[in-house]
Amino acid sequence: MKISCDICVIGNGAIGKASALALAQAGLEVVLVAPSSASASGSAAKPLSDTDHWDQRVYALNHAARSLLDSLKVWDAMQATRIAPVDAMAVQGDVPHQFGLLSFDAYGARVGALAWIVEDSNLNHALDAALRFASGLKIVHGAANRLDRTNDAAQITLDNGEVISCRLVVGADGAHSWVRTQADIGLDYRSYHQQAVVANFESENAHHGIASQWFLGADGIVALLPLPGNRVSLVWSAPDGLASTMANETPDQLAQRLMALPGQALGQLHMLPLASPKSFPLRLIRSHSLIADRVALVGDAAHVVHPLAGQGMNLGFADIQSLLDAIAKRDQSTDCGDARTLGRYARARKEDVLLMQIATDGLQRLFASELPPVKLLRNAGMGLVNKIPFLKRRLMTHALGPSLSIHTDS
Ligand SMILES: Cc1cc2nc3c(=O)[nH]c(=O)nc-3n(C[C@H](O)[C@H](O)[C@H](O)COP(=O)(O)OP(=O)(O)OC[C@H]3O[C@@H](n4cnc5c(N)ncnc54)[C@H](O)[C@@H]3O)c2cc1C
Repeated sequence: MKISCDICVIGNGAIGKASALALAQAGLEVVLVAPSSASASGSAAKPLSDTDHWDQRVYALNHAARSLLDSLKVWDAMQATRIAPVDAMAVQGDVPHQFGLLSFDAYGARVGALAWIVEDSNLNHALDAALRFASGLKIVHGAANRLDRTNDAAQITLDNGEVISCRLVVGADGAHSWVRTQADIGLDYRSYHQQAVVANFESENAHHGIASQWFLGADGIVALLPLPGNRVSLVWSAPDGLASTMANETPDQLAQRLMALPGQALGQLHMLPLASPKSFPLRLIRSHSLIADRVALVGDAAHVVHPLAGQGMNLGFADIQSLLDAIAKRDQSTDCGDARTLGRYARARKEDVLLMQIATDGLQRLFASELPPVKLLRNAGMGLVNKIPFLKRRLMTHALGPSLSIHTDS
């Protein structure tokens, strides 16, 4: 069977689903290719309730991501009682109680919240519900195994023989992107030799909406993110050796490690039921280009960054917004996969992506060093940034997302 459309989106992660929705809502005919293994309707039709278990996979979404999800009518479709606003952030260096402390708060930034902690399942339920009702959008299941391109079209052939002919292929197929390989887009790859260990805990004391982060030098980086109620979500970017030790520990042993963190004010911690730790290998992936003839990459297919700043998914949502803008601004005599339109998309994303790659990679390297002068300098640097409103403002504006400009007092 042959299907013709404007855009074929490959990949059914949150970024693929949001891309397909956004492009269809912009009036384009879209086909979303999901692997055959994905269930026909995506996640279960029943919305999440307060009693469902807490997903270990959570994202800190910024203002720009929220505003895109708002415009797609996805934000309000999420279960609001399962979303936690981040009211403040406290980042500690590895010379605690001295100068290595950096803090931000929503009040100082004059925003309602710095970010929101959203579970992967909550986000995907809402996206799946929106996909079911979207017009101009068709979901096709199968594995893409051939990409052919001419000057004015692209054609995707699936393993079941189905053919999708389109003007533009959007590669949203994650870190190991098939689309990126087929389009001959090169990449730089570096393993951090770390695993992100994620798990959820109930705490004795309230977190007060504070996202806390500890840079522990050789033991990696720990983040405890607020969840609704007295719950927190752990993301521990641990060196491979420590991560495998932790994988063999009991929930109480992991809780003990967290309770021993300097300045930790949550009291006793207990791992939530059905929330045993999961781990994810951490790496830096830089695609040499976000575009090729009739191809645009978005999300992790385009860039994978260290999760220390919680920005990978946010970068993906910003990609979608820029692609929408580039297509909306195209000359009406051209189509949505025209080289000038794609060039505009790539230029719009270049600086933001590069800055985030440099910042996350630089911070990871800086705080992994065990050299005493480097340790001293990095902690002093944090204390200094904390005291310079201009620098703090720049950091915060970037973290909240490109659409927001911030005025801070502190
Ligand atoms: C521990 C951890 C914590 C993080 N925390 C944050 C955070 O707080 N905030 C934030 O913004 N980001 C965060 N991130 C980053 C975020 O998880 C990723 O950037 C995001 O999930 C990428 O989404 P994606 O849809 O691009 O890719 P993926 O989620 O990898 O989805 C790709 C999809 O493509 C499908 N696929 C692959 N190949 C094919 C094919 N050939 N045909 C069809 N489909 C295909 C796959 O099945 C998959 O569903 C974190 C990452 C980690 C590891």
